[in-house]
Formats: sequence, structure tokens, C-alpha cells
Amino acid sequence: MQTSGTLHIVATPIGNLGDLSPRALDTLRTVAAICAEDTRHTRQLLAHFGLERPLLALHQHNEEQQAAQLVARLQAGESLALVSDAGTPLVSDPGFRLVRAARAAGIRVSPVPGACAAIAALSVAGLASDRFSFEGFLPAKGAARRERLTRLAAEPQTLLFYESSHRIEETLDDMVNVFGFERRAVLARELTKLFETVLDGSLGELAARVKADPNQRKGEFVVMVEGAGDDADAKVVEGLRLYAKLKEHLPPSTAAKVAAELSGAPRKALYGSGD
Ligand code: SAM
Repeated sequence: MQTSGTLHIVATPIGNLGDLSPRALDTLRTVAAICAEDTRHTRQLLAHFGLERPLLALHQHNEEQQAAQLVARLQAGESLALVSDAGTPLVSDPGFRLVRAARAAGIRVSPVPGACAAIAALSVAGLASDRFSFEGFLPAKGAARRERLTRLAAEPQTLLFYESSHRIEETLDDMVNVFGFERRAVLARELTKLFETVLDGSLGELAARVKADPNQRKGEFVVMVEGAGDDADAKVVEGLRLYAKLKEHLPPSTAAKVAAELSGAPRKALYGSGD
């Protein structure tokens, strides 16, 4: 009877090539082929380590069709690896459909763990890490982004977001408006790379810092926001929600006064937000 191969899910570095583990190298060296999000990018990574393996493109646009063929190869006894451009596959990256198809076919799917930007960021943030939720990328459009943030505003656990240099400024502004100026946050930029920076402070301070310094807008980011810990935070979140709504019909000062009365939040935490 034919024995199936294994699908290895291999994490690659998020910047520093020294983070590719010896086991990841061994696995990549021995599989029949490597499924990669961007084959050119992965070819360069392999070349750095003196490896040359057959590469197959697997990205969000072809994953559904490719999965069946890849599962057939695995069933025929070949072992394959899946990598993404950086970090752990499937974490805001392709792979979920392939893994699901392989598991459904009874194929062994085995992880070769390594770098993941979210976990690396959390490990240096100094925010509560006993509970956290990974929120990936926020919607690109402003209204959808603010709506998503509003739904998260009262969550008590640490919130983790991925963000790119294009939108970091807008995202921080929206976070200040929805979560409040004072909510504690940490911004991890370019982890493991030359310009690695980890900034912490209130959301308002971080937004101002990023606005003031163009260098702080360059590169790749993980934004981490402290959960809505206590009653005071919850009141501000509710107050901001009411203020945003009331402002559509009332002068801002009256809207802030009414929202403060209804929510129990201090008026000064509401007035002017989002204006
Ligand atoms: N699969 C990857 C992982 O395990 O982290 C994430 C892929 S996702 C398409 C890319 C996003 O991850 C970037 O936009 C950024 O938010 C985050 N990221 C990746 N590398 C990073 C780094 N070195 N420092 C900070 N954030 C990073």
C-alpha cells in the first residue's frame, strides 16, 4: 500500500535570516517541492542557504484549484512544504485551504514552528499576554475599519493588529477616536530588522509620535492595544460611541455633555474626539 507524504508547514524569518531554524532548513532540503506564496522571494531565501528545490506558486488566487493537485501528490507519497513570504504560513497568509484539504484527505500535516510577527511583538510589549486576540489586518476602508474597532472597543483582552506603512497613521487616529486617547498601546516596527523599534505609551501619544516623525511610519507594524480593563475604560468607550452619534445632531459641546452624563465618562475624555 502506498504511504502518503507529509505536508510540512514551515515558518520562515520575518526579517533576520538567522531566525530560520536548522529543522526548517532540513525540511526544506528534503521535500519534493516547496509551495510558496511568491516563488521569486522564496528562491532568494533558499539561495541564501545554498538550497535549490522545485517551487510551486500557492497564493490566495490559486489556492483553491491547486489544493486538489497538491493533495494528490501527497497521497502519491511525496512530501511537500508550505512557506509564506515571511513568518508563519496561514497567519494573515495563504495556506488554510490547502491544510484543510490535506487534513480532510487524511494526510499528515506537521508544523515546523518559527517566527511570527504577532507573537514576537507580544513577547516584547509588556502588555497582558495571558489572554490576547489576534485581529490581523483591519479593513482598508475608513468606515469599515472604525466599525470593526467599535466592535472590539469593550474587549478585555490585549488586541493585536497587523498594519502596513500606508495606513499606520489613519489606523492610529481611528484607534484614538474609538478606544480613547488614554488607552495604553505598543507599536512594534520592523522586528528583527535594522530599524527595529518598539514604542509604548497612550494611543494618543503614539499617534502624535508617528505623525511627527516620518521614519516612524516606515516598514511593517504590529499594533497592540491594551484591553478595556476596568469600568472607567468601558465608560469612555460607551461615551465615545454616544458622542460620535450625538454629534451628528447636536453641537459638539452639547453632544459631549449629554454623552458624558449618559455614559458616566468624563466630558473631557469625549469632547473633540474624531473632530
Ligand atoms: N505570516 C506572517 C507572520 O507570521 O507574522 C504575517 C504575514 S502578513 C501578510 C504581513 C504583516 O505582518 C505586515 O504587514 C506586518 O503587519 C507584520 N509583520 C511582518 N513582519 C514584521 C516585522 N518584521 N515587524 C513588524 N511587523 C511585521
